[in-house]
Amino acid sequence: MSLVLHVAGDRWRTHLRSVADGHPGLVPVCKGNGYGFTLGRLARKSQWLGVDTIAVGTYDELPHVATRFDGSLLVLTPWRPFGAALEVDPALADRVVHTLSRPQDVDDLLRRQPDARFVLERMTSMQRHGHSARELWAAARTLADHRSARLEGVALHLPLAQGSHLGEVERLLTDVVAAELDTRTIWVSHLTDAELATLRASYADYDIRPRTGTALWLGDRGALRVTATVLDVHPVERGDSFGYRGRTAPKSGHLLVVSGGTAHGIGLEAPTGDSGLKARAATLARGGLDAVGFVRSPFSIDGKQRLFAEPPHMQASMLFLPSGSRVPDVGDEVDVRVRFTATAFDRVVVE
Ligand SMILES: *Cc1c(COP(=O)(O)O)cnc(C)c1O
Repeated sequence: MSLVLHVAGDRWRTHLRSVADGHPGLVPVCKGNGYGFTLGRLARKSQWLGVDTIAVGTYDELPHVATRFDGSLLVLTPWRPFGAALEVDPALADRVVHTLSRPQDVDDLLRRQPDARFVLERMTSMQRHGHSARELWAAARTLADHRSARLEGVALHLPLAQGSHLGEVERLLTDVVAAELDTRTIWVSHLTDAELATLRASYADYDIRPRTGTALWLGDRGALRVTATVLDVHPVERGDSFGYRGRTAPKSGHLLVVSGGTAHGIGLEAPTGDSGLKARAATLARGGLDAVGFVRSPFSIDGKQRLFAEPPHMQASMLFLPSGSRVPDVGDEVDVRVRFTATAFDRVVVE
């Protein structure tokens, strides 16, 4: 019935434990759809790992994790003097670590909550949020006027690795040192183990805390399997029409209705193979189904990725299985390849 994420429990937990053991100061990132697992489950697993801090993406995500994890809650979206940032449950005020990315927000937050906990974000080549070197220096001066402020470190959000980050991180850390901030903690993302080790060696008096989501939760893909269920099977002859658009079958085979559609985040994938005219003519000559406009789906049967008979529906998808293939039964499971961070599973089953 459902689109299911199956988790091999022992194997997954062993992986999580080994990442945590290998990365002192690890900050598990629990944001968005919880990387497919749900935010609540990631919060509970973080509690089990014994870390002192987790990161959420937005203020709105706080209620999903706060009752399942009892440590500090770093919010990755920078604080602004409006919206959800001003609506934090007062009961959480002492556990929330804000991210401040503009000097005026440092002053503004501390006027509202003089003992706020926060990190100062330094702009990186990502160019998303953060203080310039000069602004970081200005923020340090502002902090001198706020004696009860609790500065918890400086945060750097680095792009996904295209070569080494070390040159950039070292330039940025030079600014951090120059700002003479009263902290020795640097929160980073997307550094390799080797980069972390090099940084720790050259900044031995700093605590480097890696914020990690993908490599933690999704780092052992072999522990994860996604399945849909065959809900219906219909034989079709060439020329039979089907689907919302009254399309006709290009040859005989079977239509398969499987669970999983747009509501789950199942989308159209790229058409198969080369779409050049010559290639199309060649596939047409071979009777290839992509030549008649069928598009590869993320569902696979007997190890082969199957074609959508038409674009996915809200809860289900229609696949076309040409004659000659083994036809699964109603109730059979089929494997699905998904982007975990963009998929809403009906169920997560830890086995
Ligand atoms: C999402 C995010 C991370 C974690 O990213 P992964 O690629 O999932 O490890 C770290 N830092 C910030 C600021 C983020 O937004």
